[in-house]
Amino acid sequence: MRKIKKIGVLTSGGDAPGMNAAIRAVTRAGISNGLEVYGIMRGYEGMIDADIRRLLSGDVSGILQKGGTILKTARSKRFREYEFRQQAYENLKAIGIDALVVIGGDGSFKGATEFSLEFDIPVVGLPGTIDNDMFGTNYTIGYDTCLNTVMEAVDKIRDTASSHNRVFFIEVMGREAGFVALHGGIACGAEAILIPEVKGQLDSLMQLLSSPERQNKSSIILVAEGHTEGTTFEIAEKVRQTFPSLDVRVTILGHIQRGGSPTAYDRVSASRLGVAAVEALLDDQKSIMIGIQSGEIVHVPLSKTVKQNREVSQSLLDVAKRLV
Ligand code: ATP
Repeated sequence: MRKIKKIGVLTSGGDAPGMNAAIRAVTRAGISNGLEVYGIMRGYEGMIDADIRRLLSGDVSGILQKGGTILKTARSKRFREYEFRQQAYENLKAIGIDALVVIGGDGSFKGATEFSLEFDIPVVGLPGTIDNDMFGTNYTIGYDTCLNTVMEAVDKIRDTASSHNRVFFIEVMGREAGFVALHGGIACGAEAILIPEVKGQLDSLMQLLSSPERQNKSSIILVAEGHTEGTTFEIAEKVRQTFPSLDVRVTILGHIQRGGSPTAYDRVSASRLGVAAVEALLDDQKSIMIGIQSGEIVHVPLSKTVKQNREVSQSLLDVAKRLV
């Protein structure tokens, strides 16, 4: 049985608020268990370039409330090639790092799975993505903060929309999944929610907007960026042409959704995940993701998380439908 002495932690893929809370938790839980902890900068890029530094307890002071990631993050083309993964492994070996915690989305977990198998190094993944579409966990780091940012922004847009009786299309993040749009839409009382998972929503939208009571009222339509019936601007244009009397506007919320101080829920949950990651490595676990289901910490094989996506809940779709 191998005894882990030094662990590396990195953030990879899109940044998400709460990643710093997870880094802090991994660092402090590692140190309190007698481990040396190393921060790997810029995701897999820093692993290839040996941009790695020791983290002491004081290095993670004052970061809990900060959005983004102190370790920086990157998308690494080079890590997809064996030659660079080998270089990354040599860099870890030179320092003596014998286990990794990877905080990121399913792309980062694909890389982690391959790396762990090729070089027989234990890797634990923590789900970090504002999209909340990872299989095997109900919670992903950053999603709650993102949702609250969306809610605050849409509330503000609602004020101006209702003052002018305008129809606002508001695009939110979610390239492949509609979690942010669906939950944000319910939280803000959106009149319609367009998400990639549901087909034929344009027809129902036109039907809704054609009703006499919608003619002199504001409407908020939340659109997930990955929806399949054209871009948000194209959909808005169709509505404009079909209903020339409506005053139609488009707002793309964009990167504001990624930033900001994490909510209490994200801070606490990311801290739980970070501590559980260290415990799992000390318990000789490898190639697993730590997630949260029904409020409890769960271990899910990394190989499972990269093959499937989590689906939006049908019951929540029904709730949204009944509230318009
Ligand atoms: P987000 O959900 O925010 O997009 P992500 O982790 O899914 O986060 P990706 O860009 O898909 O983000 O992946 C992050 C990095 O993981 C990639 O830039 C690449 O370095 C690595 N990676 C992804 N897939 C593989 C793979 N099949 N083999 C090796 N590395 C990979």
